[in-house]
Amino acid sequence: MIRELIINIAIIIATISIGNQILINKKITPFSPYKLQIFFGLCSALLGIILMLYSIIITPSVIMDLRNIAVMLSATYCGFLSAMITGIILSLFRLLFQGQTMDSFLAALNILTITVCCALTAKYMTRRRLQWVVMSIYTLIFPTLTFIHTINNKILLIQTVIFYWISTIIVSIVVYIYLHYIDLLRFTYQRYREESFRDHRTGLLSVRQFDKEFNKLIDNLSTYSIISMLFLDIDYFKKVNDVYGHQNGDKVLEDIGKILLSSTSSTDIVSRNGGEEFSVILIECPQNIVLEVAERIRKAVQDHKFSLLDNKTINITISIGVAIYPYTVKNIEMLVEQADSALYQAKRTGRNKVVLANYEQF
Ligand code: GH3
Ligand code: MG
Ligand code: MG
Repeated sequence: MIRELIINIAIIIATISIGNQILINKKITPFSPYKLQIFFGLCSALLGIILMLYSIIITPSVIMDLRNIAVMLSATYCGFLSAMITGIILSLFRLLFQGQTMDSFLAALNILTITVCCALTAKYMTRRRLQWVVMSIYTLIFPTLTFIHTINNKILLIQTVIFYWISTIIVSIVVYIYLHYIDLLRFTYQRYREESFRDHRTGLLSVRQFDKEFNKLIDNLSTYSIISMLFLDIDYFKKVNDVYGHQNGDKVLEDIGKILLSSTSSTDIVSRNGGEEFSVILIECPQNIVLEVAERIRKAVQDHKFSLLDNKTINITISIGVAIYPYTVKNIEMLVEQADSALYQAKRTGRNKVVLANYEQF
């Protein structure tokens, strides 16, 4: 019995690990898209079926399995719909493939009752640990009622109930601890992944993501008629660090990120390209509007009162270089270089200004 119990725990842990790998990039919650909820429900049902096939023989006439853990898993992670799918499939499997006897009917009814209770608990209870405890209690109580109804021998009944309770409690605790560990892994992985394409200070895209997005545009160039590049650099930013300290410099960078996001539209690609340099890519934006956007950003920064850690406020300015494909540059690969050179021009000719790249430059 102990051997079979260990095999069952191993099956559950292996399935959770594989499922985690498959769904590592997906957010699994009761509010996930329906497709994902259905997929999760089906996978949990598959786990339940495997557990039913690897049932634990207590005596030749008394057999138990841990299928309910699959329902609990489905309900806790993906909510009502997912749990119902898992439960209904498991009930049907019990009825259709394991004989249509009274015992099968009772077992199927048992799964359905536990499923409805778990699904409702997932719907109305928010704290995961409490959910798991409550679901474990259903999983203990309902099958015990079936045991009482079907096992006539008192000693065998007591033995069965004790073994069922101890094994279910152990499995429930082990699986909960493992799920907690998996949650932590998922959280860390998703945070690192997020940080690889977002700059942590400003929330804008990182330079790596900027490169990816720009390369994507180049690859699909035939789909676009105008691509514009704004290169932005804070004026005399070194002075801000020198006079007010690095921490205040960081705070200014955060505010610049917010200004850039509020002055652009959600389809624009806004990145922090390094230090105090930023970029905005605008797609299919007419030339005069591109210059308007650049000017709007420049003015928003100029007018903004940047508050420092001691609540003092300062003003700063930025310079912006603009290049527009196919107007100022015919070769898209030169767009970055041309915007950078326009920025250099803006710096050289006084700063706090927008400079459009020279048409004949390249
Ligand atoms: P210019 O008008 O010519 O651009 O002058 P500048 O002082 O802004 O230019 P420079 O490139 O010489 O200095 C950029 C400074 O930006 C240097 C560095 O101290 C600062 N910097 C770069 N990254 C960060 C950062 O993450 N945080 C802070 N606080 N400062 C940064
Ligand atoms: Mg710079
Ligand atoms: Mg600068």
